[in-house]
Amino acid sequence: KNLTAAEIKQITAEENVQFLRLMFTDINGIIKNVEVPISQIDKVLANKVMFDGSSIDGFVRIEESDMLLIPDLSTFLIFPWEAEHGKVARLICDIHTPDGEPFIGDPRNNLRRMMREMQAAGFSRFNIGPEPEFFLFKLDENKQPTLDLNDDGGYFDFAPVDLGENCRRDIVLELEKLGFEVEASHHEVGAGQHEIDFKYADALEAADNIQTFKLVVKTIARKYDLHATFMPKPLANIAGSGMHINMSLSNAAGNAFYDANGNEQLSSTAEHFLAGIMDHARALTAINNPIVNSYKRLVPGFEAPVYIAWSGHNRSPLIRVPQARGLATRLELRSVDPSANPYLAIASILGAGLAGLAAKATPVAPVNCNIYDLTPEQRRAAQIEDLPSTLHNALKALEADEVVKAALGPHLYQSFMESKRQEWSAYRQTVSGWERKQYMMLY
Ligand code: GLU
Ligand code: MG
Ligand code: MG
Repeated sequence: KNLTAAEIKQITAEENVQFLRLMFTDINGIIKNVEVPISQIDKVLANKVMFDGSSIDGFVRIEESDMLLIPDLSTFLIFPWEAEHGKVARLICDIHTPDGEPFIGDPRNNLRRMMREMQAAGFSRFNIGPEPEFFLFKLDENKQPTLDLNDDGGYFDFAPVDLGENCRRDIVLELEKLGFEVEASHHEVGAGQHEIDFKYADALEAADNIQTFKLVVKTIARKYDLHATFMPKPLANIAGSGMHINMSLSNAAGNAFYDANGNEQLSSTAEHFLAGIMDHARALTAINNPIVNSYKRLVPGFEAPVYIAWSGHNRSPLIRVPQARGLATRLELRSVDPSANPYLAIASILGAGLAGLAAKATPVAPVNCNIYDLTPEQRRAAQIEDLPSTLHNALKALEADEVVKAALGPHLYQSFMESKRQEWSAYRQTVSGWERKQYMMLY
């Protein structure tokens, strides 16, 4: 799949590609595009396209604004859906400073940095299998999203073949054309809610895939006059959308989380890594659940985690160890939601896990009962802590966590904090309908 510049040039000519879309991701996880006509292909492939970094959230200050877009040739693909003005191909880019150095404020570059730390610790891959969930809402006559869901189906409910079913099938077909190996696609618990799981990949490719996935889902949904949203909790009283992250490390010997003779057939590597994530879970929440709305999902009653605990046997905890062993041995982190910047999320999870390994941390005992049935006293006795319940609390935890801060690096950490503090401050100044309904008459 690794094409040379000359091959890419040839393919774009043969396929009559008219536009090149150069993609990268800002600190908030939003995909940014610089689109150039195909006449610019030589400039693109010679790493000469520049853009104004100061216009991108969390990148650079005005006085150092010009940045280079360095296309990663392995990410070349032609979008399969028909475009009105000719075919569009995309390349995901790394961001370099004008003097050609990888830019430390680029989340993708930061993930590469953390993968080098992983290699230094003796591992070759950080396998990531994401389970993104999303909602489909109907559009109104002005093509604006409404709060009307496109169906009232439930989990694995295949009975009525509705708009959402057809739309999801079309999404799966388009993903397959793009080379995704879709492992499962099903209706989720919530009405109008869907999940599509695709094959795991090494960390950087997995993060790229998540971004491509969101783009495909949103694009195809529009064709059906639907709006796809990855907002974690669009409707109160209905399950939110998570993006569970399945993960394992591998080395030359295979899956480093598997040990036929280990406790529950898990290796000590898996245990240390798990302990690392548990130890840094509160700070990781700021990165994995980065928006105000993320915390409306992390409440009891909707299969989203609320407490810091792990289990091999039930679904409610923060970390689950799915039954599969051998090559498929993995940890499933269930807190992550799809508003997370996947590059930052995966880099910080890796940082926390590697810190657990370096410290040979041992996890607390698994919790194999339903944590939600425990009283606060029982939870305290079992040393089960809460995840942060607001963005504000998560940011405070991040502020105090040197390991997760180091996994972001100082530039990204500061930009992230700045952007999130602003978001929190804007939010706390709003007064909601709920408050007026509760208090207006009473006080
Ligand atoms: N929608 C649930 C969440 O918010 C997850 C449901 C599931 O287990 O797939 O994480
Ligand atoms: Mg699910
Ligand atoms: Mg899951």
